[in-house]
Amino acid sequence: AKEHGRNNFQFFFPEMNIALAKKMMLEAGLRTALDNNEFQLHYQPQYDHEKIVGLEALIRWQHPVYGIVSPLDFIPLAEETGLINPIGQWVLEKACQQCMEWQQQGLPPVRLAVNLSMRQLQDKHLVTMVQQTLQKTGLSPAYLELEITESIAMHRLDTVIPRLQALQDMGIHISIDDFGTGYSSLSCLQSLPINSLKIDQSFMRNMSTNTSNTSIVSAIAAMAHSLSLSLVAEGVETEAQLEFLRSLGCSTFQGYYFSKPISATECEWLLANNA
Ligand code: C2E
Ligand code: CA
Ligand code: CA
Ligand code: CA
Repeated sequence: AKEHGRNNFQFFFPEMNIALAKKMMLEAGLRTALDNNEFQLHYQPQYDHEKIVGLEALIRWQHPVYGIVSPLDFIPLAEETGLINPIGQWVLEKACQQCMEWQQQGLPPVRLAVNLSMRQLQDKHLVTMVQQTLQKTGLSPAYLELEITESIAMHRLDTVIPRLQALQDMGIHISIDDFGTGYSSLSCLQSLPINSLKIDQSFMRNMSTNTSNTSIVSAIAAMAHSLSLSLVAEGVETEAQLEFLRSLGCSTFQGYYFSKPISATECEWLLANNA
């Protein structure tokens, strides 16, 4: 029986894909992470010249065994399993609560951006959930921004448009994240109830040597201008990128050149000095 067991093991284990095993362990952990308080939010400032005008909330998972797990590793898994709905709801509430707390402390008010995933946008209770979260935390909708990636926004426009419209009608700012990576046409974009475009950070790479990236960024800036949308540049790491973006009329910047995502405490300090 012992030998049989060993054979079984040998048969089973080499066949088992390490990536799959890792995924299964992460998934098990993800199911209990909310209850165990393992998530936290970091905030990345968005600048307009020298001043902070907004913050993007970015989730962090402090796994008891693996340490910090990148959202790039667990958000897709959360999407797949549907766990993104409760997690996304937690992110929204935590972010709104934090933003309200800073305002109550008398810190200069800034808008807080929260990422919405595909599953959340497809949830018919989304608008009610957002409304209830604002009510519960007391945050004015004017200080909330919801980011939706271009590919998600362009998927099933028949349900997406009325939902985004309802959120925008509440006074929430809607922005298209990772813009330029999808294939949205000008007319498609025009039909969406949105306020701003966030240029995908992949275009910032080698902007001085890669002429196609340079022309894509110029085209996006022209597009935003013609649709009267504000333009946010993401992944700004150098002064040269900043100067080029400014020359195109872009006025809001996010990236390591200004600041990495930081903890709530560090953020509080930055806001207090944001005169
Ligand atoms: P994203 O929404 O495009 O967020 C920007 C990502 O770029 C962040 O990575 C940020 O740390 C990183 N970044 C910012 N500035 C720079 C820079 O100058 N250079 C470089 N190389 N990177 C920069 P992060 O925090 O690891 O998040 C990765 C992705 O995970 C996010 O991309 C977003 O798609 C997703 N994500 C994060 N938090 C949430 C969340 O609460 N909900 C959902 N649905 N997705 C989230
Ligand atoms: Ca984002
Ligand atoms: Ca982005
Ligand atoms: Ca992204």
